[in-house]
Amino acid sequence: MTALIWFRDDLRLADHAALSAGALDTDGIVALYVLDEESPETRPLGGAAKWWLHESLMKLRAALAERGVPLVLRRGKAEEIVPRVAHETHADHVYWNRRYGAEREIDARIKLQLRENDIDAHSFHGGLLFEPWKIETQTGGHYRVYSPFWRACLAMPAPAHPIPDPELLRGVPSPPASDDLASWRLQPTRPDWAGGLAEHWQPGEQAALQQLEQFLRGPTNEYANRRDFPSEDVCSGLSPYLRWGEISPRTVWHRALDSGADVGTFLSELGWREFAWHTAFHNPPLHLQGLNPQFEHFPWKDPDAEQMIAWQQGKTGYGLVDAGMRELWHTGFMHNRVRMVTASFLTKNLLTDWRIGEAWFWDTLVDADTASNPFNWQWVAGCGADAAPYFRIFNPATQQKKFDPDGWYVNRWANDSVLFPEIVDLRATRTRALAAYDRVRHGTD
Ligand code: FAD
Repeated sequence: MTALIWFRDDLRLADHAALSAGALDTDGIVALYVLDEESPETRPLGGAAKWWLHESLMKLRAALAERGVPLVLRRGKAEEIVPRVAHETHADHVYWNRRYGAEREIDARIKLQLRENDIDAHSFHGGLLFEPWKIETQTGGHYRVYSPFWRACLAMPAPAHPIPDPELLRGVPSPPASDDLASWRLQPTRPDWAGGLAEHWQPGEQAALQQLEQFLRGPTNEYANRRDFPSEDVCSGLSPYLRWGEISPRTVWHRALDSGADVGTFLSELGWREFAWHTAFHNPPLHLQGLNPQFEHFPWKDPDAEQMIAWQQGKTGYGLVDAGMRELWHTGFMHNRVRMVTASFLTKNLLTDWRIGEAWFWDTLVDADTASNPFNWQWVAGCGADAAPYFRIFNPATQQKKFDPDGWYVNRWANDSVLFPEIVDLRATRTRALAAYDRVRHGTD
């Protein structure tokens, strides 16, 4: 018996149900990763994500090779490639861990195709704590508000304990040909803008586990009170590892609880990740349309090229916005509080459609995923699930005083921000945003 294991957003060996199932097949396994930028249900990766994927595939390839299993890389439509590789390798089983966004349509079609060809295709629990369809309201619908959603999750049986790394893996005697990873050109060449990413991040499963342990050894009792302060190192930094599945949320959940650390608030943040995916599962794809139809005719302004560049490059004259946007450009990451402030500035003070900001984050974040990114943009813009009310407009100057009182964060990333003229007047643009919202609310637009 031969098993084909199709890796996707689960670039790890531990708590990998599909891999562990395949390890039982006596004739060995074939490990496959497909870069699919062609299927309409997939969203082509942004630049920072491509950088991470390249690094992560190198790590996964090395970890599998140590156990005698080469990683086969192919590029193209998954719907053509997966059945082809299954055929080439005479696979009896094709196993994968589930995806929960629009791509699951592709998976359903592949499963059907394989089964029609007498190949057993089986999917396993994927990168969430709770399967999205199992969390239902009393009337059988899905949740639109976070608190009852998370309460319903916590009332479910606890997430299963992670499956250990399979001790024994066996490759097939003649594995199929693989693309050369370099030929995918996932990494920037000239100019190489990814230096800051490499300085800040170490992708891969081992680094993910270290990041978790370091977080749990740190001041977790400060997390609830200090997580909004961007200069304080109290957050986990786990989001890209979770995004790429280099660590499973079940591993994070159980390690956090077993550590005896103070992790209640932290786990409820993982709850937001679950809620974003629950929302995306029921409304895919989330990045094209706001969930609240009221916003369909919102009078967004055509983006002003100069203002957009100032926002992207962190030259708005508002310290916290500029620091956040530069942190993002340099490291592929931005602190959560600052993500909210920069997103509010774009959608409210610049009156720019949230989709334009979402696309910039999609291109520049190493943790960008098809649920959390559009979900949170919609949340800030006011059109999403359980969203902040539109009239909650963050004032970047006040936010800076409150969350970066000694200026450490702004000085680190944008100490020259004061030299840039402020590109908008906060009070006037706030009034303009509220008037635009009023028109939509009263249906006069
Ligand atoms: P911690 O505070 O340590 O939280 C632990 C984990 O909980 C995170 O790693 C993450 O997986 C999850 N989490 C925490 N807050 C949220 C949240 N609001 N929504 C969803 N999951 C959450 N997060 C992404 O993972 N990918 C994105 O593309 C993304 N885009 C965002 C865009 C905007 C406009 C905003 C406001 C937030 C976005 N977030 C996104 C959520 C959040 O900012 C990051 O998850 C968080 O900053 C990651 O840092 P951390 O791992 O140290 O988080």
